Amino acid sequence: AWTRSKPPLLRFLNDCLTEFSAETSGAVADYIPELSKADPAYFGISLATLDGHVYEVGDSRVPFTIQSMSKPFVFALALDMLGAARVESAIGVEPSGDPFNSIRLNAENHPFNPMVNAGAIACTGLIQESKGEAAFEEIRKALGRFAGRELDVDEAVYTSESQTGDRNRAIAYLLRTNAVIKDNVAAVLDVYFRQCAVLVTARDIAVMAATLANRGVNPVTGEQVMTPYAISRTLSVMTSSGMYDYAGEWIYRIGIPAKSGVGGGILAALPARLGLGSYSPRLDKHGNSVRGIKVCEALSSHYDLHMLNRS
Ligand code: GLU
Repeated sequence: AWTRSKPPLLRFLNDCLTEFSAETSGAVADYIPELSKADPAYFGISLATLDGHVYEVGDSRVPFTIQSMSKPFVFALALDMLGAARVESAIGVEPSGDPFNSIRLNAENHPFNPMVNAGAIACTGLIQESKGEAAFEEIRKALGRFAGRELDVDEAVYTSESQTGDRNRAIAYLLRTNAVIKDNVAAVLDVYFRQCAVLVTARDIAVMAATLANRGVNPVTGEQVMTPYAISRTLSVMTSSGMYDYAGEWIYRIGIPAKSGVGGGILAALPARLGLGSYSPRLDKHGNSVRGIKVCEALSSHYDLHMLNRS
Protein backbone atom coordinates (compact mmCIF):
# COMPACT_ATOMS: atom_id res chain seq x y z
CA ALA A 1 0.00 0.00 0.00
CA TRP A 2 2.85 2.33 0.88
CA THR A 3 4.44 1.84 -2.54
CA ARG A 4 1.21 2.70 -4.29
CA SER A 5 0.70 5.85 -2.23
CA LYS A 6 4.27 7.07 -2.83
CA PRO A 7 4.33 10.49 -4.49
CA PRO A 8 5.06 10.16 -8.25
CA LEU A 9 8.27 12.18 -7.90
CA LEU A 10 9.62 9.75 -5.32
CA ARG A 11 8.67 6.86 -7.56
CA PHE A 12 10.53 8.51 -10.44
CA LEU A 13 13.66 8.96 -8.29
CA ASN A 14 13.43 5.33 -7.14
CA ASP A 15 13.15 4.17 -10.74
CA CYS A 16 16.28 6.17 -11.59
CA LEU A 17 18.08 4.58 -8.67
CA THR A 18 17.14 1.07 -9.76
CA GLU A 19 17.78 1.59 -13.45
CA PHE A 20 21.09 3.45 -13.19
CA SER A 21 22.54 1.26 -10.43
CA ALA A 22 23.33 -1.16 -13.25
CA GLU A 23 25.66 1.45 -14.76
CA THR A 24 29.18 0.64 -13.59
CA SER A 25 31.32 2.47 -16.13
CA GLY A 26 33.66 5.27 -15.15
CA ALA A 27 36.25 5.41 -12.40
CA VAL A 28 36.54 6.90 -8.93
CA ALA A 29 38.93 9.91 -8.89
CA ASP A 30 42.34 8.96 -7.58
CA TYR A 31 44.54 12.01 -8.28
CA ILE A 32 43.65 13.03 -4.73
CA PRO A 33 44.71 9.73 -3.11
CA GLU A 34 42.11 9.82 -0.32
CA LEU A 35 39.23 10.11 -2.83
CA SER A 36 40.12 6.69 -4.29
CA LYS A 37 38.83 5.09 -1.07
CA ALA A 38 35.21 6.02 -1.87
CA ASP A 39 32.89 3.03 -2.29
CA PRO A 40 31.91 3.09 -5.99
CA ALA A 41 28.58 1.45 -5.16
CA TYR A 42 27.23 4.49 -3.32
CA PHE A 43 24.30 6.06 -5.12
CA GLY A 44 22.05 8.71 -3.64
CA ILE A 45 19.61 11.17 -5.21
CA SER A 46 17.71 14.02 -3.61
CA LEU A 47 15.40 16.64 -5.05
CA ALA A 48 14.24 19.77 -3.24
CA THR A 49 11.28 21.81 -4.40
CA LEU A 50 10.87 25.52 -3.75
CA ASP A 51 8.10 24.96 -1.21
CA GLY A 52 10.69 23.21 0.97
CA HIS A 53 9.87 19.55 0.26
CA VAL A 54 12.96 17.34 0.08
CA TYR A 55 12.68 13.95 -1.62
CA GLU A 56 15.49 11.43 -1.12
CA VAL A 57 16.32 7.94 -2.30
CA GLY A 58 19.31 5.60 -1.85
CA ASP A 59 22.47 6.84 -0.16
CA SER A 60 21.23 10.41 0.11
CA ARG A 61 22.68 10.82 3.62
CA VAL A 62 26.15 9.48 2.92
CA PRO A 63 28.70 12.28 3.31
CA PHE A 64 31.28 12.99 0.61
CA THR A 65 33.44 16.00 -0.24
CA ILE A 66 31.90 18.91 -2.10
CA GLN A 67 35.03 19.56 -4.25
CA SER A 68 34.21 21.75 -7.26
CA MET A 69 30.56 22.11 -6.27
CA SER A 70 31.90 24.65 -3.74
CA LYS A 71 32.93 26.94 -6.61
CA PRO A 72 29.55 28.50 -7.46
CA PHE A 73 28.80 29.26 -3.80
CA VAL A 74 32.20 30.84 -3.17
CA PHE A 75 31.76 32.91 -6.34
CA ALA A 76 28.36 34.12 -5.07
CA LEU A 77 29.95 34.92 -1.71
CA ALA A 78 32.75 36.91 -3.38
CA LEU A 79 30.22 38.90 -5.45
CA ASP A 80 28.24 39.85 -2.36
CA MET A 81 31.25 40.41 -0.14
CA LEU A 82 33.45 42.42 -2.53
CA GLY A 83 31.12 43.66 -5.24
CA ALA A 84 30.90 42.60 -8.87
CA ALA A 85 33.45 45.18 -10.11
CA ARG A 86 36.24 43.83 -7.88
CA VAL A 87 35.49 40.20 -8.71
CA GLU A 88 35.22 40.89 -12.43
CA SER A 89 38.52 42.79 -12.39
CA ALA A 90 40.23 39.51 -11.44
CA ILE A 91 38.19 36.67 -12.99
CA GLY A 92 36.52 36.31 -16.40
CA VAL A 93 33.15 34.72 -17.18
CA GLU A 94 34.00 33.09 -20.51
CA PRO A 95 33.98 29.28 -20.94
CA SER A 96 37.49 27.94 -21.43
CA GLY A 97 36.74 24.69 -23.24
CA ASP A 98 39.69 23.31 -21.26
CA PRO A 99 39.69 20.71 -18.49
CA PHE A 100 39.02 21.96 -14.95
CA ASN A 101 42.67 21.87 -13.90
CA SER A 102 44.04 23.67 -16.97
CA ILE A 103 46.92 26.01 -16.32
CA ARG A 104 46.02 28.26 -19.29
CA LEU A 105 44.82 31.79 -18.53
CA ASN A 106 42.93 34.19 -20.82
CA ALA A 107 44.42 37.01 -22.94
CA GLU A 108 44.54 39.31 -19.88
CA ASN A 109 46.35 36.61 -17.91
CA HIS A 110 43.28 36.16 -15.74
CA PRO A 111 41.30 32.95 -15.14
CA PHE A 112 38.67 32.24 -17.79
CA ASN A 113 35.85 31.80 -15.28
CA PRO A 114 35.19 30.95 -11.62
CA MET A 115 34.19 27.32 -12.35
CA VAL A 116 37.69 26.14 -13.37
CA ASN A 117 40.36 25.69 -10.71
CA ALA A 118 42.28 28.86 -11.65
CA GLY A 119 39.14 30.99 -11.28
CA ALA A 120 38.06 29.28 -8.09
CA ILE A 121 41.49 29.71 -6.50
CA ALA A 122 41.41 33.39 -7.53
CA CYS A 123 37.96 33.73 -5.98
CA THR A 124 39.13 32.17 -2.73
CA GLY A 125 42.13 34.53 -2.92
CA LEU A 126 39.79 37.55 -3.03
CA ILE A 127 38.00 36.33 0.09
CA GLN A 128 41.32 35.61 1.78
CA GLU A 129 42.57 39.10 0.86
CA SER A 130 39.53 40.66 2.50
CA LYS A 131 39.01 38.37 5.52
CA GLY A 132 42.51 37.07 6.29
CA GLU A 133 42.48 34.22 8.76
CA ALA A 134 38.69 34.28 9.01
CA ALA A 135 38.34 33.45 5.29
CA PHE A 136 37.74 29.74 5.62
CA GLU A 137 35.15 30.17 8.39
CA GLU A 138 33.29 32.71 6.23
CA ILE A 139 33.20 30.18 3.40
CA ARG A 140 32.21 27.24 5.62
CA LYS A 141 29.40 29.28 7.19
CA ALA A 142 28.14 30.48 3.82
CA LEU A 143 28.07 26.91 2.47
CA GLY A 144 26.16 25.94 5.63
CA ARG A 145 23.54 28.62 5.06
CA PHE A 146 22.94 27.26 1.57
CA ALA A 147 22.61 23.73 2.98
CA GLY A 148 20.55 24.78 5.98
CA ARG A 149 22.90 23.12 8.46
CA GLU A 150 26.46 23.48 9.69
CA LEU A 151 28.99 21.64 7.50
CA ASP A 152 32.31 20.06 8.55
CA VAL A 153 35.58 19.30 6.80
CA ASP A 154 36.91 15.85 5.90
CA GLU A 155 40.39 16.27 7.39
CA ALA A 156 41.78 13.21 5.61
CA VAL A 157 40.74 14.48 2.17
CA TYR A 158 42.01 17.97 3.01
CA THR A 159 45.41 16.63 4.08
CA SER A 160 45.60 14.32 1.09
CA GLU A 161 44.94 17.13 -1.41
CA SER A 162 47.17 19.57 0.39
CA GLN A 163 50.05 17.06 0.23
CA THR A 164 49.58 16.24 -3.44
CA GLY A 165 48.02 19.37 -4.99
CA ASP A 166 51.07 20.57 -6.91
CA ARG A 167 49.11 21.39 -10.02
CA ASN A 168 46.84 23.75 -8.07
CA ARG A 169 49.95 25.14 -6.40
CA ALA A 170 51.41 25.87 -9.83
CA ILE A 171 48.17 27.57 -10.88
CA ALA A 172 48.19 29.71 -7.73
CA TYR A 173 51.77 30.88 -8.30
CA LEU A 174 50.91 31.70 -11.90
CA LEU A 175 48.02 33.80 -10.58
CA ARG A 176 50.32 35.63 -8.21
CA THR A 177 52.87 36.44 -10.87
CA ASN A 178 49.97 38.00 -12.82
CA ALA A 179 48.80 39.92 -9.72
CA VAL A 180 45.47 38.07 -9.58
CA ILE A 181 46.43 36.75 -6.15
CA LYS A 182 48.12 39.41 -4.07
CA ASP A 183 48.38 37.57 -0.82
CA ASN A 184 50.23 34.61 0.56
CA VAL A 185 49.82 31.78 -1.96
CA ALA A 186 50.12 29.06 0.68
CA ALA A 187 47.35 30.60 2.79
CA VAL A 188 45.02 30.92 -0.22
CA LEU A 189 45.62 27.30 -1.22
CA ASP A 190 45.02 26.14 2.31
CA VAL A 191 41.57 27.78 2.26
CA TYR A 192 40.87 26.38 -1.23
CA PHE A 193 41.82 22.81 -0.25
CA ARG A 194 39.69 23.04 2.90
CA GLN A 195 36.76 24.46 0.95
CA CYS A 196 36.96 21.49 -1.46
CA ALA A 197 37.02 19.04 1.48
CA VAL A 198 33.75 20.27 3.05
CA LEU A 199 31.45 17.30 3.64
CA VAL A 200 27.96 17.27 2.13
CA THR A 201 25.28 14.71 1.29
CA ALA A 202 23.06 14.44 -1.79
CA ARG A 203 20.31 15.90 0.38
CA ASP A 204 22.50 18.90 1.27
CA ILE A 205 23.33 19.64 -2.34
CA ALA A 206 19.67 19.37 -3.35
CA VAL A 207 18.85 22.06 -0.77
CA MET A 208 21.86 24.15 -1.84
CA ALA A 209 20.75 23.87 -5.47
CA ALA A 210 17.17 24.74 -4.54
CA THR A 211 18.48 27.87 -2.81
CA LEU A 212 20.14 28.87 -6.09
CA ALA A 213 16.89 28.10 -7.93
CA ASN A 214 14.96 30.21 -5.41
CA ARG A 215 16.81 33.53 -5.93
CA GLY A 216 18.98 32.91 -2.90
CA VAL A 217 16.29 32.06 -0.35
CA ASN A 218 16.84 28.66 1.26
CA PRO A 219 13.42 27.01 0.78
CA VAL A 220 13.83 24.88 3.93
CA THR A 221 15.07 27.52 6.41
CA GLY A 222 13.55 30.59 4.70
CA GLU A 223 16.85 32.46 5.02
CA GLN A 224 17.95 34.86 2.25
CA VAL A 225 21.47 33.52 1.90
CA MET A 226 22.81 35.71 -0.93
CA THR A 227 21.43 38.55 -3.04
CA PRO A 228 19.38 37.68 -6.14
CA TYR A 229 22.08 39.51 -8.17
CA ALA A 230 24.86 37.19 -6.95
CA ILE A 231 22.64 34.16 -7.52
CA SER A 232 21.67 35.02 -11.10
CA ARG A 233 25.32 35.68 -12.03
CA THR A 234 26.35 32.42 -10.39
CA LEU A 235 23.70 30.49 -12.33
CA SER A 236 25.00 32.19 -15.49
CA VAL A 237 28.52 30.85 -15.08
CA MET A 238 27.14 27.43 -14.10
CA THR A 239 25.18 27.47 -17.36
CA SER A 240 28.21 28.29 -19.52
CA SER A 241 30.99 26.52 -17.59
CA GLY A 242 29.60 24.32 -14.82
CA MET A 243 30.25 20.86 -16.24
CA TYR A 244 33.96 21.04 -17.07
CA ASP A 245 34.71 20.66 -20.77
CA TYR A 246 31.28 19.03 -21.23
CA ALA A 247 29.45 22.28 -20.41
CA GLY A 248 28.23 23.07 -23.93
CA GLU A 249 26.99 19.56 -24.53
CA TRP A 250 25.33 19.57 -21.10
CA ILE A 251 23.33 22.73 -21.53
CA TYR A 252 22.34 21.65 -25.06
CA ARG A 253 21.11 18.21 -23.99
CA ILE A 254 19.90 18.72 -20.43
CA GLY A 255 19.30 22.45 -20.22
CA ILE A 256 19.64 22.86 -16.45
CA PRO A 257 22.42 24.95 -14.84
CA ALA A 258 24.65 22.54 -12.95
CA LYS A 259 28.00 21.96 -11.31
CA SER A 260 29.81 18.73 -10.67
CA GLY A 261 32.66 17.79 -8.36
CA VAL A 262 35.32 15.07 -8.55
CA GLY A 263 33.98 13.63 -5.29
CA GLY A 264 31.07 12.29 -7.39
CA GLY A 265 28.44 14.92 -6.76
CA ILE A 266 26.32 16.80 -9.27
CA LEU A 267 24.14 19.72 -8.30
CA ALA A 268 21.55 21.02 -10.74
CA ALA A 269 19.45 24.13 -10.17
CA LEU A 270 16.47 24.91 -12.38
CA PRO A 271 15.44 28.52 -11.64
CA ALA A 272 11.96 28.89 -10.12
CA ARG A 273 11.53 25.10 -10.11
CA LEU A 274 13.84 22.77 -8.18
CA GLY A 275 17.25 21.73 -6.94
CA LEU A 276 18.73 18.29 -7.52
CA GLY A 277 21.66 16.63 -5.78
CA SER A 278 23.14 13.29 -6.76
CA TYR A 279 26.05 11.28 -5.46
CA SER A 280 27.79 8.43 -7.24
CA PRO A 281 31.60 8.45 -7.26
CA ARG A 282 32.40 6.87 -10.64
CA LEU A 283 33.40 9.63 -13.09
CA ASP A 284 33.60 9.85 -16.87
CA LYS A 285 36.60 11.26 -18.74
CA HIS A 286 35.50 14.86 -18.11
CA GLY A 287 35.28 14.28 -14.35
CA ASN A 288 31.47 14.16 -14.20
CA SER A 289 29.60 11.44 -12.27
CA VAL A 290 28.37 8.87 -14.82
CA ARG A 291 25.17 7.99 -12.95
CA GLY A 292 24.60 11.62 -11.96
CA ILE A 293 24.50 12.60 -15.63
CA LYS A 294 22.00 9.80 -16.32
CA VAL A 295 19.76 11.02 -13.49
CA CYS A 296 19.80 14.59 -14.81
CA GLU A 297 19.11 13.44 -18.37
CA ALA A 298 16.17 11.36 -17.18
CA LEU A 299 14.79 14.15 -15.00
CA SER A 300 15.08 16.71 -17.78
CA SER A 301 13.40 14.55 -20.41
CA HIS A 302 10.76 12.91 -18.17
CA TYR A 303 9.47 16.24 -16.83
CA ASP A 304 10.40 18.27 -19.92
CA LEU A 305 12.62 20.62 -17.92
CA HIS A 306 15.02 22.09 -20.50
CA MET A 307 15.28 25.73 -19.41
CA LEU A 308 14.96 27.03 -22.97
CA ASN A 309 11.78 25.09 -23.54
CA ARG A 310 9.54 26.97 -21.09
CA SER A 311 6.30 28.76 -21.84
N1 GLU B 1 39.83 19.94 -5.17
C1 GLU B 1 39.76 19.55 -6.55
C2 GLU B 1 40.89 20.15 -7.35
O1 GLU B 1 41.16 21.31 -7.19
C3 GLU B 1 38.43 19.96 -7.10
C4 GLU B 1 38.31 19.57 -8.53
C5 GLU B 1 36.91 19.27 -8.98
O2 GLU B 1 36.04 18.84 -8.22
O3 GLU B 1 36.71 19.49 -10.17
O4 GLU B 1 41.54 19.49 -8.12
